[in-house]
Amino acid sequence: MNEHHDTATTKAGPVTVIGLGPMGQAMTRTLLAAGHPVTVYNRTAARADGVVADGAALAATPRDAVEASELVVLSLTDYQAMYDLLDGATASLTGRTLVNLSSDTPDRSRQAAAWASGHDASFLTGGVMVPAPMVGTPASHIYFSGPHEVMDRHSPTLALLGTPRYLGDDPGLAQMMYQAQLTVFLAGLSALMHATAMLGTAGLKATEALPELLAFADSIGDILRAGEQTPGTALDAGEHPGHLSTVTMMGATADHIVETTASLGLDLALPRAIQAHYRHAIANGHGNDNWTRIIDSVRRPQ
Ligand code: NDP
Repeated sequence: MNEHHDTATTKAGPVTVIGLGPMGQAMTRTLLAAGHPVTVYNRTAARADGVVADGAALAATPRDAVEASELVVLSLTDYQAMYDLLDGATASLTGRTLVNLSSDTPDRSRQAAAWASGHDASFLTGGVMVPAPMVGTPASHIYFSGPHEVMDRHSPTLALLGTPRYLGDDPGLAQMMYQAQLTVFLAGLSALMHATAMLGTAGLKATEALPELLAFADSIGDILRAGEQTPGTALDAGEHPGHLSTVTMMGATADHIVETTASLGLDLALPRAIQAHYRHAIANGHGNDNWTRIIDSVRRPQ
């Protein structure tokens, strides 16, 4: 994987943005600020008012939106929304490039690429790794996959939204990376809310609890990189040395979290899911291994 650089020169050509949630609106404003004429479409037309005031043109139908630009960016809740909008406009897709930056499964991204190809359109899958207010800032980056030459052609424009990180030809790849990253993000958010609820039962306000929790969350990367072997190196080598911490030790803590949560009357789903990873590893005779051994609980669920 590398950042995708392109030497092709492009002028600020027209771009269509379909879907005007916070993300589509931020993308539209970023493209307008860079001088691109932007045509927008949204199922709920009133949601376009802000970006139209900023200079975007509102298309009356999805077909009009598609026909306004060769480059069509989609920012929707899921891929079904793309079909709901574009199934009546497929005759207009010929020769255009669809860049779908919506969340869905890798398989649905692959099916969508085949669907686009069936209508003589090119297709790129993308996963935006920052929230809407950060789109277009230097901190923004977006994973892409799909045909390399299509990425080359549109990279200068797409780079306005965030630094492109091109993963390869398979249209499912960028979606896989997005889902993997969001697994970490959503699990982390649920863990933060669980922990905040726990501390709340002891009288701590969220404004007191969260700074403590976030400081620890920030240090997790440093903790994982501190050992003589990074978890990635150990996992790729199939080695799980338990001389600094073991599955048994971590599993005991997972048990304590379940007991504490139960005694407080809070939801047990998250602690039980964590506990199950350690119990599975211990039951398979890996109690003396490092915590990385729990990857087996994910790879071979029982
Ligand atoms: P929203 O849910 O606010 O907007 C979704 C858009 O999809 C709206 O334009 C909505 O139209 C449209 N839509 C949903 N279902 C249909 C349908 N069946 N037919 C037609 N249109 C439909 O999402 P966001 O803007 O927040 O996010 C867009 C995408 O970007 C998502 O896939 C999200 O996972 C991803 N993303 C979002 C981030 C964020 O911070 N918001 C961060 C990173 C990625 P309508 O207005 O009519 O409801």
